[in-house]
Amino acid sequence: MDQLISIILPVFNEEAGIQSTIDTLLNYVEQQKERYELIFVDDGSKDNSAKIIEKSMQLNENIKLVRFSRNFGHQLAITAGLQYATGDAVVVMDADLQDPPEVIPEMIQKWHEGYDIVYGKRIKRDGETVFKKFTASAFYRIFKKISTIDMPLDTGDFRLMNRRAVDQLRKLHEQDPFVRGQVTWIGFKQTSVMYHRQERIAGETKYPLTKMISLAIDGITSFSMKPLQLANIFSIVPIVSGIFSLGYLLASGSYSLASVGVTILLFTLGLLLLSIGILGSYLGRVLDQVNNRPRFIVSETKGFQERNKGIHHLHARSQN
Ligand code: UDP
Ligand code: MG
Repeated sequence: MDQLISIILPVFNEEAGIQSTIDTLLNYVEQQKERYELIFVDDGSKDNSAKIIEKSMQLNENIKLVRFSRNFGHQLAITAGLQYATGDAVVVMDADLQDPPEVIPEMIQKWHEGYDIVYGKRIKRDGETVFKKFTASAFYRIFKKISTIDMPLDTGDFRLMNRRAVDQLRKLHEQDPFVRGQVTWIGFKQTSVMYHRQERIAGETKYPLTKMISLAIDGITSFSMKPLQLANIFSIVPIVSGIFSLGYLLASGSYSLASVGVTILLFTLGLLLLSIGILGSYLGRVLDQVNNRPRFIVSETKGFQERNKGIHHLHARSQN
């Protein structure tokens, strides 16, 4: 039977362009040999987006709609889409056609070659402000330095994932998910295809600076413990200054109230910062435990005989 591809489209106040997105996608889908389902996740739109989608559903049964009770954000809209998608592979893309459907066959090609996850990597971004391009590029580069995962540069949420990748993602229950980080985190065979990010077909970006900052913070706090340990590094300054100050005291022999006071103060400050850093390290462990991600993901096992089946059960359970 033909393979089923689910396309997840998060939608937030996209009435200006959603109809042409639907038309373009249906037109694309008709020309493909795979079967498709289009899953629109309406993230609490206040405009007519949902109505427009519902209308097109009457004409095409491959269109599906999930409606949030309010705006929960792009990342959770994608997360919800993954729960509802039934495809052998799932593609996530913007509802504003910034991610061109023509790239999907390339992604499918890579999937057929054996990759579990295929990222869309932006070579060019049209119609975005210099500020947005600069901040995005800076974020990805800093993130790469401080995070524990090797997230490919210049990728967004446009990607294809096969069934086993989606099933693993669905096991992650983070409250504020940073989906592109999660996707890297689960591992498996990952690759990317280059694409030219288009201009929005209509409407404004739904990612104002505040949302971008909160996404960046979610990304860093989900995949880096470095900020928690910053206090350890900061403590070096007062401790080293304290040592110098003590040396100066001993060498000069002038034990004035001020110089003794400063030395004590510097050491106290250093110890205080160090203690905060230690707290950070423990907090990091608590965070890890609370995130409750599977501790490891097995991609395959080989050579186990029938009698060892119990081990597979163990594997399955420890991943939940
Ligand atoms: N979006 C969403 N919820 C939000 C913000 C955005 O579902 O709170 C959707 C939006 O409709 C679009 C996608 O997420 O389909 C990406 O948003 P947008 O295109 O505004 O971001 P940009 O491409 O400008 O970074
Ligand atoms: Mg967009």
